[in-house]
Amino acid sequence: MKKTYKGSCHCGAVRFECEIDLAEGTSKCNCSVCVKGRFWKAIAKADAFRLVHGKDALSDYTFGRQAIHHLFCRRCGLKPFGRGHMDELGDFYAVNVLCLDDAAAEELAEAPVRYEDGRNNHWESPPAETRYL
Ligand SMILES: [Zn+2]
Repeated sequence: MKKTYKGSCHCGAVRFECEIDLAEGTSKCNCSVCVKGRFWKAIAKADAFRLVHGKDALSDYTFGRQAIHHLFCRRCGLKPFGRGHMDELGDFYAVNVLCLDDAAAEELAEAPVRYEDGRNNHWESPPAETRYL
C-alpha cells in the first residue's frame, strides 16, 4: 500500500514528500555512482514526489550520458534523491529510502531489494556479487 513519507537530507535544508509502497520493492545498483554512495532507492513517479523545501540547496551532478540528475545537498552532502526520465516510467524520482524520516526500521528491513548490474549496463539483471551493495 502506498504511503506518504516525509524525507530530508541530513541538515534539513532539503525536504520532500513522496508516495511510495516500500513493499513493492526497492533496488540497489552496482554502477560507479550508486556503489560509492551505497544508494538504496525506491522509484516514485513524478506526480508522487514533491520537493517541499531546498531547491536552492540542491546541487545537480550528472555524468556519462547525463541521463540521471544526482541531486545532493550542497551543505551536508547527502543525496536524498535523483531524478531522470525513462520511456517506461516517464519522469521519475529515485528516492534514497534511508532519507525517509518516517519510515520505520521494520518497513525498511522488510522491503524487498532488487539488485541491478548497472556497472555492465544490465539493469534488468543482478550482478554476480551483491553482498557488498
Ligand atoms: Zn543538507
